[in-house]
Amino acid sequence: MNIHEYQAKELLAKFGVPVPAGHAALSVEEAVEAAKKLPGPLYVVKAQIHAGGRGKGKFVELGPDAKGGVRLAKTLDEVKAHATDMLGNTLVTIQTGEAGKQVNRLYVTDGVDIEKEFYLAVLVDRATGRVAMVVSTEGGMDIETVAHDTPEKIHTLDIDPATGFMPHHGRAVAAALGLTGDLAKQAQNVAAKLYDAFLGTDAAQIEINPLAITGDNKLMVLDAKVGFDSNALFRHKDLMELRDETEEDPMELEASKHDLAYIKLDGDIGCMVNGAGLAMATMDIIKLNGAFPANFLDVGGGASKEKVTSAFKIILSDPAVKGILVNIFGGIMRCDIIAEGIVAAAKEVHLSVPLVVRLEGTNVAEGKKILSESGLDIVPANDLGDAAKKIVAQVKVAA
Ligand code: GDP
Ligand code: MG
Repeated sequence: MNIHEYQAKELLAKFGVPVPAGHAALSVEEAVEAAKKLPGPLYVVKAQIHAGGRGKGKFVELGPDAKGGVRLAKTLDEVKAHATDMLGNTLVTIQTGEAGKQVNRLYVTDGVDIEKEFYLAVLVDRATGRVAMVVSTEGGMDIETVAHDTPEKIHTLDIDPATGFMPHHGRAVAAALGLTGDLAKQAQNVAAKLYDAFLGTDAAQIEINPLAITGDNKLMVLDAKVGFDSNALFRHKDLMELRDETEEDPMELEASKHDLAYIKLDGDIGCMVNGAGLAMATMDIIKLNGAFPANFLDVGGGASKEKVTSAFKIILSDPAVKGILVNIFGGIMRCDIIAEGIVAAAKEVHLSVPLVVRLEGTNVAEGKKILSESGLDIVPANDLGDAAKKIVAQVKVAA
């Protein structure tokens, strides 16, 4: 689960991380009121969407010459003008995709003079299985570009969970950023606090870009992207309240309500599978047969008929889906339950695309019988390879 910049900064501030003062605003009036509460004379008006690259982004409605989603303002009138420009309009950045995202909320912050911009991220490094801190002197830019062009400018340190964040980690961060004296001390402090925040919230990532040295030699977090490990959210009721459902894909949101692991993808073959490994294999074999999956969907080991029905409805509600492949191995899950779910859903929602079903495992004979007697146009398959070939062929014929 990701949160907005303003929420991330409020959260980090609670852990003692230095951030500029700021207030969120839902209207032009609120934006001006927010600025009035700040000392001035420089303000920053920032679009709040769950995507980075806002500064260099473009508003669809304002044309290519207009400024992006992070703007400096020197007067309250400028704050008002920027807020009017941004609210309700669609911001396209390198992270939003072509469609962009509508800006419904702003963050008005105290503007600071920037001497230098750094990059600092805390994340879980899958290779080491540890929390890693990634630091670079090349802040304010797209970190993927830095990693590609000048990988030597990115320093990664991993943190042993048994010791936690140690003073030597802090010194390594300061050294990687080329800082000495008081700024080095500030860097050690900020890094330690960010680590505390990461552990304390069960975060999946905390990305600070930029971490800036200000005109008066203070290290400050000017932008923060924070995401949490959804599997740990049950431990953080307060964080769950930060969820902004309008930022999420509507189908993924619906899936999460039914406790289904669903990710929308770009292809046209909808997949319903039980078990993440089998789902990955199913996606692979669809690709091997020359087509692309429209989604990843794991209904889980012990899904009920209701769960299968909702999963099926979610797939069918995606207009990109030109065919559906159901691939179930009934271990804990019984094939007849799956079959009942499929039949119930297909009857409720008009089944307008070809459907190939491969069932194997517990009660497979009963499951197949339910499907064949349903009167629905279902193509049975014997194994995974057969199923993939059949659905790809069906979709090609339909196209
Ligand atoms: P992003 O484009 O979505 O990553 O949004 P950021 O919050 O990182 O802002 C983009 C850029 O705007 C930063 O890299 C800074 O160069 C600039 N910026 C943000 N806040 C301030 C500020 O308080 N003062 C000044 N001078 N520039 C700022
Ligand atoms: Mg940024």
